[in-house]
Amino acid sequence: MDLRCPKCNSTDLKKVSLAYQQGLYRTDARTGLSAALVGGNGPDLIVGRATTHASHQSALSKQLSPPAKWSYLKVVSWSVLAFLCVGWLVFYVNTVTTNSSSVLSSPLTAFGLISGAAFVLQLFLVWRHNHSAYQERFADWDHSFICQRCGAVSQHG
Ligand SMILES: [Zn+2]
Repeated sequence: MDLRCPKCNSTDLKKVSLAYQQGLYRTDARTGLSAALVGGNGPDLIVGRATTHASHQSALSKQLSPPAKWSYLKVVSWSVLAFLCVGWLVFYVNTVTTNSSSVLSSPLTAFGLISGAAFVLQLFLVWRHNHSAYQERFADWDHSFICQRCGAVSQHG
């Protein structure tokens, strides 16, 4: 193994995945707390977790973070929330404009169909990301090294 930094030619390289783990060990308590919060399943809690996550991570370990898998839970939570908000709006406008209490009127049916299609599309996109783009990025990340002299990140192997 003759790894050299492409920037300063130093051989003092460390695997990015290792540097990342070392940078994160102080924040283990946070991880436990957020895991407990996620049990609530709401979008607010998920957003809260993401914010806490970002603010507690050091700038360096953030730069070294592995690629993230897209979360089905996140997509589903936001979809349900959007569905309820927009659905209520469509229902309200529909009731006011047509003065009809029929639940199966055409705007609502159209909304239901579009929502269903959008939901399936989102799940497909998450699945595709996790099975192709994510795998590639993770492999790249796993082959990345950080120079301990100048901090440049380069890929080897
Ligand atoms: Zn270097």
